[in-house]
Amino acid sequence: MKFGTKAIHAGAEPDPTTGAIMTPIYQTSTYVQESPGKNKGYGYARGKNPTRSALEKNLAALEDAKHCICFSSGMGATDAVIKMLRPGDEVITGDDLYGGSYRMFTKVFAHYGIKFHFINLTDAQNIRKYVNVNTKLIWIETPTNPTMQIVDIEACATIAKEHKLILAVDNTFASPYLQNPLSLGADIVMHSVTKYLGGHSDVVMGALMMNDDKLHTDLAFILNSCGANPGPMDAFLVMRGVKTLHLRMERHCFNGRKIAEFLKTHPRIEKIYWPGFEDHPNHAIAKKQMRDFGGMISFVLKGASVDETFRMASSFHVFSLAESLGGVESLINHPATMTHASIPREERERVGVVDNLLRLSVGVEDVEDLIEDLKQALETK
Ligand SMILES: *Cc1c(COP(=O)(O)O)cnc(C)c1O
Repeated sequence: MKFGTKAIHAGAEPDPTTGAIMTPIYQTSTYVQESPGKNKGYGYARGKNPTRSALEKNLAALEDAKHCICFSSGMGATDAVIKMLRPGDEVITGDDLYGGSYRMFTKVFAHYGIKFHFINLTDAQNIRKYVNVNTKLIWIETPTNPTMQIVDIEACATIAKEHKLILAVDNTFASPYLQNPLSLGADIVMHSVTKYLGGHSDVVMGALMMNDDKLHTDLAFILNSCGANPGPMDAFLVMRGVKTLHLRMERHCFNGRKIAEFLKTHPRIEKIYWPGFEDHPNHAIAKKQMRDFGGMISFVLKGASVDETFRMASSFHVFSLAESLGGVESLINHPATMTHASIPREERERVGVVDNLLRLSVGVEDVEDLIEDLKQALETK
């Protein structure tokens, strides 16, 4: 089955008692048992809920995965993966991570004796320098947030297999419509479902997809033990959102390309980050592993002070100044003070998160209106 058909139909069986075409919201915490231990596969709703199970089937299908586990947020999903490790274990990850992942690794798990190496992954071979007997996990994100670096998933998978490491990929920015890391050799895919999968800025949720049965069992055990489970209403909302993922992504990509091209030649732009440009340093890898280049674009305002950058970020009429991304509405974000505020200045500036950098999540509005809005905002001094 092709992507759009799966987005609409996978996991969405008509309700057996009424024929309702939409999966019901099973708003229940427990399930009646015939005799002790004899149930219909559902014991207590922290572990399993039928609305969530339907969504998990759907999301697994979109990543061509055997299994999916949904969590209460993307960070909840990431937390579960790191909880598979033990004190003394080491993780190799990128130096251009989502700020929340960086914060969790350095401010929570470093205290539990897990060591993280934050390295430049634009050349995957750099990983080899950091692998030792304690290395257990490679955690990558591609495209990265907010500077749209591209990491070669297949090359990372080759190194992971050589050393028997787990490769986990944060696939939030690409969405399963643009990129499927498991088919490139990754072991785990993580999504902040909050973003493109949900797509309507009304749910916070995370998910992990995997093919390996043992990884699935271990991670489902952590979910049930630690309790970062999403509620059934949220699962329903995401199932509804996912039905249009392919349509939304087509428009995100179309609008993203138009806006990237508009900004590229604008006199107030010093630098633009979008993997679709042929002069993007890893354009060839992006082309190899992604079906299109998406609607996330970052740019540096030429010679702008922080105040000037703030004024411009606050002068939009269609774009909203907000954290998050991947919804139908266009957003603008100031990474240095918003999404990446938890990363020390020196570290964030080294990877390009400077004070005059702005990030766009291009929505699915009419692109002419978005370009008009950018035009007028770029005139702000
Ligand atoms: C938002 C985001 C996360 C965290 O997900 P939440 O659902 O907000 O917990 C992780 N990685 C990336 C790339 C994100 O954009």
